[in-house]
Amino acid sequence: RKAKKSGRNHFEVYHKELDGNGEIIVLENYLRKAIERQEFVLYYQPQMDIKTKKIYAVEALLRWNQPDIGFISPLQFIPLAEETGLIIPISEWVLKQACQDLKILHQFDQQLKMGINISAVHFQQGDFVKKVSMITEKMNVHPRSIKLELTESTVMPNARQSIDKLVKLKQLGFKIAIDDFGTGFSSLSYLHKFPIDILKIDQSFIRNLSKYEGDAAIVTAIITMAHSLHLRVVAEGVETQKQYQFLEKQQCDFVQGYYVSKPMPLEELQVFLCEWNTYINTETKNINTET
Ligand code: C2E
Ligand code: MG
Ligand code: MG
Ligand code: MG
Repeated sequence: RKAKKSGRNHFEVYHKELDGNGEIIVLENYLRKAIERQEFVLYYQPQMDIKTKKIYAVEALLRWNQPDIGFISPLQFIPLAEETGLIIPISEWVLKQACQDLKILHQFDQQLKMGINISAVHFQQGDFVKKVSMITEKMNVHPRSIKLELTESTVMPNARQSIDKLVKLKQLGFKIAIDDFGTGFSSLSYLHKFPIDILKIDQSFIRNLSKYEGDAAIVTAIITMAHSLHLRVVAEGVETQKQYQFLEKQQCDFVQGYYVSKPMPLEELQVFLCEWNTYINTETKNINTET
């Protein structure tokens, strides 16, 4: 049983999803055609700077709308894409599309950053740095506008090679974020040997902030330690005002979650950013005229 491990688990997920008539091969074939059939779309979720209340970045989140099945979660098809190698063309599509959309968003806000999730399989390719910088260059987007989100389990194996790649990416101007922080087994002091800019505290810790004292203590400790290592901190999955206020009090830098906004398509995001900026500007004006 043990030998069957992850491949089987994935199969079972897809099997259930496909109402019993599916084979992993079916989904794999669908996935192969998904790019050319233009079934992928990127949704964007804002990340807000707690101090200024500005939206400082958005995260690109991949959505697959398969006509016969409907929407399939990235949590389900990314593992399959990784097993089949399809993750490479998919990731390159994501990078290109996110760059293209960012240029539109820069018409509203020159400073806006784009967070892009990077699969371990993609990152571990020998030519990853070259490929990524070729895409941003071709798309005419400066790397300083791009924040690459990698998990601990992506950078921990082959630490030496990972550090080399991250150093190169940093030299080019890319920002590096560690995603889902706290779910791996690495300590922050070890992770700090990697040239990173931002930590994203995993949403599981935020979810239980008011339920478990332990989680509040962990979040506080992560923020304090990250700051002493000159890293900035994003809290993921912030849904309630109570969670937000706790994070503000602990001097967390950025929040992302339904409390600010759900992920949305580009057109909706444009409207959102316009309204958000107008709102902050009037708020600041009110404060200024009051004093
Ligand atoms: P992630 O990078 O940690 O993304 C955050 C996930 O949390 C997203 O799920 C987002 O929709 C969800 N989320 C955001 N705010 C809240 C909240 O307030 N409450 C709750 N309950 N959930 C919230 P999503 O979009 O389903 O993506 C899941 C994962 O799939 C991502 O986790 C990321 O690891 C992966 N993924 C998504 N897009 C891509 C991509 O383009 N490339 C790669 N390689 N992986 C991707
Ligand atoms: Mg992410
Ligand atoms: Mg995450
Ligand atoms: Mg995640």
